[in-house]
Amino acid sequence: MGLNIVDFLYQGATLNISMKTPKTKKRALKVKKPLKKVSRLIGNKIVKKNRTMKAAILENINQPLTVAEVELTDLTFGQVLVKVLVSGICGAQLLEIGGHKGNAKFTPHLLGHEGVGIVEDVGLGVTRVKKGDKVIMHWRKGEGVESDFPTYIFKGKPMRSGKVTTFSEYSIVSENRLTSVPHETPNELCALLGCGLSTALGTIKDEANVRFGESVMIVGAGGLGLNMVKAATLASAYPIISIDINDHKRDLAKQLGAHLFINSSTHSIADELLKNFGIKEVDVIIETPGNKHALRDTIPFLSGVGRFIMVGQPKPGETVELLNASHMFGGEGKMIKATQGGKFSPSHDIPRYVRLHKAGILNIDNIITHRIKLEQVNEAIELVRKGQASRILIEM
Ligand SMILES: [Zn+2]
Repeated sequence: MGLNIVDFLYQGATLNISMKTPKTKKRALKVKKPLKKVSRLIGNKIVKKNRTMKAAILENINQPLTVAEVELTDLTFGQVLVKVLVSGICGAQLLEIGGHKGNAKFTPHLLGHEGVGIVEDVGLGVTRVKKGDKVIMHWRKGEGVESDFPTYIFKGKPMRSGKVTTFSEYSIVSENRLTSVPHETPNELCALLGCGLSTALGTIKDEANVRFGESVMIVGAGGLGLNMVKAATLASAYPIISIDINDHKRDLAKQLGAHLFINSSTHSIADELLKNFGIKEVDVIIETPGNKHALRDTIPFLSGVGRFIMVGQPKPGETVELLNASHMFGGEGKMIKATQGGKFSPSHDIPRYVRLHKAGILNIDNIITHRIKLEQVNEAIELVRKGQASRILIEM
């Protein structure tokens, strides 16, 4: 899921390399100050340079990210400079690395769409966050100004970026991709609320409308799938069935609340449902990897009130088969729906989720499996790709 770059495509990105506020305007408004510049001695000449930071850059599709210095540029209307504390790694970034989000023509570009940081500076027009605020960085739009796409300088050339990116020490973010939270809110929770956990809670509650005691099957036990298991427990779903092809996901899925884990590469889903619960169908199926085979093979398990929610995005141009299509007309008529981040509404949902966590109702134990430094980002992405991790956090 995620829109960073897709956003970009549809809205026609423009380059704003140096949109300094004119001096007269600056004095009149007394608000905007440019980012600090540092003086560098190059040869025997002192030159002013933009502030630099370390970032992971997607230079070429299907290649490891480059961790290198990038220059920040001045903030434009509605933009906020955030010092990133922690970023999550989401399946959407794997899609972008593979060029599956139509982003190949925008390389090099930055990545990441869930994180937490501290506001360092704000551009003109920003009113919802202020310097020093702790903010959750999210790809779904919240309230506030929708700014232009930010531009950074990489290898001496302008580099475009989505309206929120998180795989860097600092980030220029559109105001409406930030939500302030109390400073004591744990960084881990904040990062997860930027995408994975919020998407899971929204998908279960607002897309699938899971009712008490409904059966829920969650396909894929990666970071997002495990968040879905957690969210299904909060909705009192029963049974909650977690499906994956890696046996080592069994313990994690069970710890998070799955009543049954099925390794679909070695066991028949139909046999296991019957043997363990005496059922042939389930009420809600949530597919997280966007795998065409998993989609084809699990849709037939929908019950008469079945809702199938596609969370993972298949590759562009890929076809998914609907086996025995007439069964979709059984019961009350079954539904297949693709979700955009579980309809997650950051400005409204984040404060509720933070309160739930504070009250001990929403705990995030066991969701995070690895913590890494930015330099290890490529190894971490490999772990996600091989299904060997749940959520991985990058600590800046
Ligand atoms: Zn995501």
